[in-house]
Amino acid sequence: MEQDLIKLLEFDKNHLWHPYTSMSQLTVYPVRAAHGVHIELCDGTRLIDGMSSWWCMVHGYNHPELNAAVSGQLKSMAHVMFGGLTHAPAVELARRLVAMTPAGLEKVFYCDSGSVAVEVAAKMAIQFMQSTGYKNRTKLATVRGGYHGDTWHAMSVCDPETGMHSLYSGALPVQFFASRPSVPFAGEWDPGELNEMERLLERHSDEIAAVILEPVVQGAGGMWFYHPMYVKGVRELCDRYGVLFIADEIATGFGRTGKMFACEWADVTPDIMCLGKAITGGYMSFAAVMATDRVAAGISENPPYAFMHGPTFMGNPLACAVAGASLDLLARPETLDNIARIESQLKELLEPARRLPAVKEVRILGAIGVLELHRPVDMASVQRKCVENGVWIRPFGKLFYIMPPYIITDEQLETLCRAMIRITSEM
Ligand code: PMP
Repeated sequence: MEQDLIKLLEFDKNHLWHPYTSMSQLTVYPVRAAHGVHIELCDGTRLIDGMSSWWCMVHGYNHPELNAAVSGQLKSMAHVMFGGLTHAPAVELARRLVAMTPAGLEKVFYCDSGSVAVEVAAKMAIQFMQSTGYKNRTKLATVRGGYHGDTWHAMSVCDPETGMHSLYSGALPVQFFASRPSVPFAGEWDPGELNEMERLLERHSDEIAAVILEPVVQGAGGMWFYHPMYVKGVRELCDRYGVLFIADEIATGFGRTGKMFACEWADVTPDIMCLGKAITGGYMSFAAVMATDRVAAGISENPPYAFMHGPTFMGNPLACAVAGASLDLLARPETLDNIARIESQLKELLEPARRLPAVKEVRILGAIGVLELHRPVDMASVQRKCVENGVWIRPFGKLFYIMPPYIITDEQLETLCRAMIRITSEM
């Protein structure tokens, strides 16, 4: 290995934290570039990306139109404060978001990341209740098995067992949980599924500001795909009990489940919707919280009138410009066609994995393919085998899954799926 690379890895090992890792047990692969669906390691190995860098890089790396949007924007300004100022990239992005999200979401709040978007959504819901006379409604309700991010309110609605509750117990707000929806996405709907959430709201709605759900697909909490009627039912229960409905579409938004937004499967408009990840085509950390006119009016027409959040990088012009270009790419008809093509190929190539002894269940929806295993994987060794097979997949727990960039070709997707099957069949 070159001397510079050895030094780089050594400094990394001694000084850098990576996501969800211990500083003393860490394997990382150094990357020198990424183009299209390929991640190129410093030793020249090219890997087909199965992760879209955690759901965000949907158009592939180094995309000419996204690059042009960033460099074009750099010529006028990289950043300017959003307090008291505005600019075309922010307005144009909001125009696109209002047009493409479910009807009724008219107001846009920009922020820094998915987790912050969840904090903003929770604050909006709580402030709405405070402003409209429901002072006790300060809690959130959700279902088990969810994941909403790593900041405080976001952690408080993650799954209480697999999330970080016990680690930070005493410090996290205590919320209300119903069981994880059990009817699968394409299973036979049972209205009794909603009984527990209904009982919860019946008893506690005077303390609850909002119910938050990842519609249809629970991501990092277990890659579980549940029935859209549950989402529809929760929307109706929220209306009945005067509680707001927050849809966390940070992972599911922008086509991943086969619809532009997962709420479309249930044909519902949430009161508040969190967007992130793919919004910038994966170019930079950025998020948006959409809200209805009613939510915005409840906050803005009652004391203290202002919504009390305003990050330094709110509406960052570089992020807005690249997000605008990313949404233009998403709006092209070939995007949803590509996702449908990926879904049918995933069904063809991954369904046979059901027969493997290590596999408990195979789940496919849109551009997401999941092998749920009987036992947790040894992440480092599976990751090494993936790299040896020319693919980049990062499993966690019992989940060996992919959500590739939408531009992946049939041949590249076949390579990814065949590598998954090969590695799983050796488990
Ligand atoms: N909500 C969901 C559904 C997510 O999947 C994630 C990230 N995996 C987040 C929130 C948090 O987003 P971020 O990592 O950008 O803070």
